[in-house]
Amino acid sequence: MIENAIRAALRDVHDFPKPGIVFKDITPILKDPVLCARINEALFSEARKLDVDVVAGIESRGFLFGPALAQSLAVPFVPIRKSGKLPYTTVEQSYDLEYGSATIECHADAFEPGQKVLIHDDLLATGGTVVAASQLVAKLQAVVAGYSFVIALDFLNGRDKLKPYADEIHALISF
Ligand code: AMP
Repeated sequence: MIENAIRAALRDVHDFPKPGIVFKDITPILKDPVLCARINEALFSEARKLDVDVVAGIESRGFLFGPALAQSLAVPFVPIRKSGKLPYTTVEQSYDLEYGSATIECHADAFEPGQKVLIHDDLLATGGTVVAASQLVAKLQAVVAGYSFVIALDFLNGRDKLKPYADEIHALISF
């Protein structure tokens, strides 16, 4: 089962990036091309049911599997980046962190009005980043059709924050 293979490959790094956090390190997964291919296939087999027009991946680990997912679906890939990285005209969205705030942005022509967008990241934690990404989609009058993650930390209740935007929230494994 792919769930077991992902669990076995993931590395828990304690107290990174700060004390009390158990960081789910996916770099051991990236060293296993067979497992990466299985993850691509599993993400695709869920996403293909949604009939999306575009995949939006969130910097930076949303760029690892997101472009392959878009290619499998034969739709465009849009990078959502931290503030100041994108060269063309952007729209931006700020959101609260535990301490302070952060800003993400995408190009002003990233989505067409009415397009159905699948938002992808490696991991759903509190959901703050993906909610901000959803607000970017809405700012450009596109629609969030669903969410795709490799991992969801369900004990942080991120899914509850995403439900107002879309019911389709898929993760290959949950903790
Ligand atoms: P969120 O709290 O959902 O806004 O998480 C923001 C980003 O931080 C996500 O893109 C995750 O990739 C990353 N992240 C948060 N918590 C963890 C964790 N425990 N392990 C690995 N990545 C994490």
